[in-house]
Amino acid sequence: MSHVFPRHTAKAPPVCVGGEGCYLIDSAGKRYLDASGGAAVSCLGHGDRGVIDAVKAQLDRVAFAHTGFFTSEPAEALADLLIAHAPEGLDRVYLVSGGSEATEAAIKLARQYFVERGEPQRGRLIARQQSYHGNTIGALSAGGNEWRRRQFGPLLLDVSHIAPCYEYRLREDGENAEAYGRRAADALEEELLRVGPETVMAFMAEPVVGATAGAVPPAPGYFRRIREICDRYGILLILDEVMCGMGRTGTLFACEQDGVAPDILCIAKGLGAGYQPIGAMLCSGEIYGAIRDGSGFFQHGHTYLGHPAAAAAGHAVVKALIERDLVARSASQGAALRAALEARFGQHPHVGDIRGRGLFLGLELVADRASKAPFEPGERLAARLKAAAFEAGLICYPMSGTIDGRSGDHVLLAPPFIIADAEIAELVDKLEGALSVALGA
Ligand code: PMP
Repeated sequence: MSHVFPRHTAKAPPVCVGGEGCYLIDSAGKRYLDASGGAAVSCLGHGDRGVIDAVKAQLDRVAFAHTGFFTSEPAEALADLLIAHAPEGLDRVYLVSGGSEATEAAIKLARQYFVERGEPQRGRLIARQQSYHGNTIGALSAGGNEWRRRQFGPLLLDVSHIAPCYEYRLREDGENAEAYGRRAADALEEELLRVGPETVMAFMAEPVVGATAGAVPPAPGYFRRIREICDRYGILLILDEVMCGMGRTGTLFACEQDGVAPDILCIAKGLGAGYQPIGAMLCSGEIYGAIRDGSGFFQHGHTYLGHPAAAAAGHAVVKALIERDLVARSASQGAALRAALEARFGQHPHVGDIRGRGLFLGLELVADRASKAPFEPGERLAARLKAAAFEAGLICYPMSGTIDGRSGDHVLLAPPFIIADAEIAELVDKLEGALSVALGA
């Protein structure tokens, strides 16, 4: 019997005992191709010596020194490296232990910023229906994933959720992508005017939507328009790149491709690449300056923030991404994987859309291609696909589309950037086989 919480399954999951490159290995010796990097985490693959050695070396020096008293060499080096490559205007780094901590801190930072500026009426957040920002109460409030939110109702913050930017289902016939992007972004202005812009502190969004919708990129111009609206009404733009950041989409930060810089940027997952739990919140000099010149202290903090071993991992990961040119590899192998998916599934009767950027790709599964009708939730297609793939030795990330009534089942692919051409071929073969099993074909 396992005493490990939280998951209860009739059959205990296999015990993972090893990892090599793009593969995980269980105690029976079975190898699994990690085609989703867990959940877009393992960007360097498993067993990366450079990161392991960096963590070990830091543990040999000192494992922990509380940030209430000290900073550390790896935390300083990581922050310097991130700021050197960050979107314009981002100037300070707050190191945390994961994605939810980063988004939670971002919400609190936005709030404190406006309180310190003498605008305490700005307390409302606007986010999107098709989004996931984490599982702590503030982050869960920001997310629009109904299934995850449902039972926590009375505790959640009052957040407005506008329609997502989701071309596959929401762009109208005859509407071009730019016009749709503008219309989708204008939903933010409409909501601001509805609730009163002076009551709003920030808009929060994932540049490329991950877990709730399977790598949905924004329409062209969407985020430029969002940025304009935020500026016009004096609200902050918080971008959540916990999943899509750190080279996943083919640029170090996903928002680079949209030509915008946020006021606050959240990253995690690929930052530690699975070697240590770490996330970060980057903020503008303007926000930092307001707090420095006000109370002088961001009223937040967890014991493990800025953990030296985690920071050493993060620093080694970012260095590897840059020095080994792995972000460009995410773009080029992403193009190769996308081409292979299009060749194999482009005409598949149950694949409605193939989308994403870099090595952050999604397939939307539909009962009927022409009408885009999703599968009935009761069919649990995503769960069956996940099980069939796992059985075949493929780890992918399918999700059921019952979230907001707007998406069908989908599968997210986010393999390590080191994925080889032969492994791309194996991925596509195994996915095709698993989909046939799941569809009962
Ligand atoms: N934001 C996004 C966009 C995410 O995808 C996730 C995790 N799936 C989170 C936040 C929360 O991150 P964590 O699970 O590390 O708390």
